[in-house]
Amino acid sequence: MRLFVDCADPYARELELIAKLFFDGLSFVRDTPEEASWRARVTVEEGEGCNPVRAVAQLTTPERTYRAEHERPVRLGNEARARQKAAKKAAAYVFLEVLEQATGIVQPWGVLTGVRPTKLYHQFVQAGYASEEISALLVREYRLAPEKVDLLARIVARQRTVLPDLYELDREVSLYIGIPFCPTKCAYCTFPAYDIRGQQGSVDDFLRALMDEIAQVGAWLRDRDLPVTSIYFGGGTPTSMTAEQLDTLLKTLRTHVPHIDRVRELTVEAGRPDTITPEKLAILKTHGVDRISVNPQSFTQATLEAIGRHHTVEETIDAFHLARRMGVDNINMDLIIGLPGEGVDHLRHSLDMVGQLQPDSLTIHTLAFKRASAMTQNREAYRVASREEIHRMMALAATWTAANGYHPYYLYRQKNILGNLENVGYAKDGKESVYNIIIMEERHTIIGLGCGAVSKIIPPGTDRVIRFANPKEPKAYIEHYHDMLAKKLALLDEAYGTMGMRR
Ligand code: SF4
Repeated sequence: MRLFVDCADPYARELELIAKLFFDGLSFVRDTPEEASWRARVTVEEGEGCNPVRAVAQLTTPERTYRAEHERPVRLGNEARARQKAAKKAAAYVFLEVLEQATGIVQPWGVLTGVRPTKLYHQFVQAGYASEEISALLVREYRLAPEKVDLLARIVARQRTVLPDLYELDREVSLYIGIPFCPTKCAYCTFPAYDIRGQQGSVDDFLRALMDEIAQVGAWLRDRDLPVTSIYFGGGTPTSMTAEQLDTLLKTLRTHVPHIDRVRELTVEAGRPDTITPEKLAILKTHGVDRISVNPQSFTQATLEAIGRHHTVEETIDAFHLARRMGVDNINMDLIIGLPGEGVDHLRHSLDMVGQLQPDSLTIHTLAFKRASAMTQNREAYRVASREEIHRMMALAATWTAANGYHPYYLYRQKNILGNLENVGYAKDGKESVYNIIIMEERHTIIGLGCGAVSKIIPPGTDRVIRFANPKEPKAYIEHYHDMLAKKLALLDEAYGTMGMRR
């Protein structure tokens, strides 16, 4: 599909994101209109002062012409930035409307193309809007479907119950620690995950570098007397390491992170069931790990084989029971909707199995075709469910979780996600992950340590997010972490000034 769009430069990116919601493999062009079968023109009057912005779109297809207009007040601040944002959203609004008319496809998330729709809801709450006003605004000005508005409202309410101080957390930080190893690489994966038997630098060399990072960041935190709210070990699969390596790493963490006993949550991803052993679980317990993930993704063996998981359904079940027997009382499970060859019946089976195991939380992902994954590069080889079936699966997951005592508590969206849907974290009462809420809502700095870890530095009292990424490959990390760490600490110093420093 080739779509020509005539618009001013500042709106092009937003409009391209909107167009991609409707067409797979879209070619979005802003020159050579004669080669495009569909042609659109979007104009915006930004206005000034307290006047609203105004946008008009016209779309011509081979069959007919569609037109939409929209006037939008400037909200959430009245300065130039708020006006520019309103202008972009107005352009997106009219463009979405003509595309919906022409295709007959209704986008449940309306003009929200970003990763974190809950952040917008929180902004309205903090600006003093009542929940009914927020719901009405999201439908009227963002074109959200009422069920998505309801989902956002429930999630935000839940987050504020779990973390009553969510809006005052900016003087604390969280830590993310990236362990870049897995037993094998799954076909849909773009995480830094290297075969632990591979040659990308030895695990011990990686650990030496990581422990040095932990020690230096720990010293920085101690100097500033900054409390740590939550710590998350991800990757990769941290439990790919041996029991001894895990023990050494967690001891280092306990030694260097100030006031570690006051950390609200310590999570270790044990995502691959084939990495979980009694010895490793005992070590996690000894070092105060509160929460782990054991991730089935699907309970259909043929699917696991098709996506290269290289573990069995039985291993997932055994690992879960083992963790329970050893007293792990907060276990998350991940399922993915839309894995190759799967439809509603496969999901129903997976949910039945989850129902038998009763994990404390359940994260429902929708498959995303990320550019770098092996699955995307070989996309024709995989048959995935239709848009309609994906929507039915998502609806089944929502109904099932509600009927089984799981509440939605965090949500995020991704590009190229099947059906333009979302990933939702559900949990039983009191089992929500603090870290997951903090990372989604960007409420304070998360310092990333280890491979592929992205630090998100948020200077206290601002909504600025400064990203800083560690190298993804173990070899590059081992060679360069020292210089990268110096740069990261300089950014942190700049963001925090003299805050908390002892005189
Ligand atoms: S287990 Fe997770 S991190 Fe490892 S390869 Fe599979 S999807 Fe990637």
